[in-house]
Amino acid sequence: YGSRATCPSTTLEICELSETINALSEALDIQEELRKRLTSDIAHELRTPITTLQSHLELMIEGIWQADPERLEGLLNETSRLSNLVCDLSKIAQLEREQLIISLEELDLHALAIQVVETIKSEYYKKEVDLVVEGELALMMGDALKLKQVLINLLNNALKYTPKGGAVKVAVHASETDVALVVSDTGIGIPAKDMPHIFERFYRVDKSRARQSGGVGIGLSIVKAIVNAHGGQLEVRSEEQKGSVFTVRLPK
Ligand code: ADP
Repeated sequence: YGSRATCPSTTLEICELSETINALSEALDIQEELRKRLTSDIAHELRTPITTLQSHLELMIEGIWQADPERLEGLLNETSRLSNLVCDLSKIAQLEREQLIISLEELDLHALAIQVVETIKSEYYKKEVDLVVEGELALMMGDALKLKQVLINLLNNALKYTPKGGAVKVAVHASETDVALVVSDTGIGIPAKDMPHIFERFYRVDKSRARQSGGVGIGLSIVKAIVNAHGGQLEVRSEEQKGSVFTVRLPK
């Protein structure tokens, strides 16, 4: 159990072994702790909209409240939150089940980005944020569906966390060996203390801020898993109130 410096040389191997066992059991404890936290987070996330729906519907049935359009819209938003959460959870389950098997095909990441941006533009048509794609042909071997998911998650975040009047840019460039995908925004940014954790499952910088925007904190963990499965790398730079830049580098 002692540190290596206090071990006599004859027992060094045993010491090393016990260090490894200690490190492993610490890692397992952290894993277990994380799992417990996640379960209570999920329960909380599910409970809030369900309670709101229940109490509002009861009040309406008892005639205490009118079922006016504004209230009904509020309830509809709660059901959207529930369905987003269930959708995210099923994505995690699917990723775990498939152990992230990716099926490679030749694709042009720039064309894929244009496709995704077109779809997203129609979803965010009310949001006054400038959304552009830059770059050129970027041929690579990749899993088109999963890389679309990467683009969707990064763009959803960029748009969610960028206020009116801001700008979101997707740039795709190919070098001889890699393809780089850069999603940048002029949004609220990420505090430095949160940066090491944002790729963890269910981690949100500010629960109330994320809840308003409908996020549960798994978008980036999915991005990371997909990028890793492609043998790629993921980097982020961010400054509060200035914006964030997410860079994905994928081997061709
Ligand atoms: P969520 O579903 O909450 O958006 P993510 O895993 O996608 O979860 O992101 C984790 C956290 O990182 C978010 O809650 C948010 O606070 C922060 N974040 C992610 N992308 C951005 C961004 N482009 N600008 C500001 N904050 C971001």
